[in-house]
Amino acid sequence: MALYHMIHNRCPKCHQGQVFKTNNLFSFRPTKMEDACPHCHQNFVKEPGFYWGAMYVSYALATAEMALAYVTALLLGASPFDFVNLGICIAVVIFLFPFNFRMARLIWLYLFTGVVES
Ligand SMILES: [Zn+2]
Repeated sequence: MALYHMIHNRCPKCHQGQVFKTNNLFSFRPTKMEDACPHCHQNFVKEPGFYWGAMYVSYALATAEMALAYVTALLLGASPFDFVNLGICIAVVIFLFPFNFRMARLIWLYLFTGVVES
């Protein structure tokens, strides 16, 4: 259920307010976060630099996406050590950068708000 709320850009506490000001997960336009939930006033910035840790989540997401792209390319007939595979993996990560950025911050926020089990 938490994944559903993350994908729909909802507050980890009340599931009503938005965390990001826009809902498009794949927009390359810069997006801003709310400082607090417009519905329940849950603080989204717990301390200065709170979202630095989201880089680890972003790294994990990008690694999983690259592995999936690599395996998919292999299944489609590419050779294991081909620069085409490398290009495909890099293109996938660049294309999914906005998704990773937002999902990493949302996962980080949900982890440290303590409501992942809901
Ligand atoms: Zn809220």
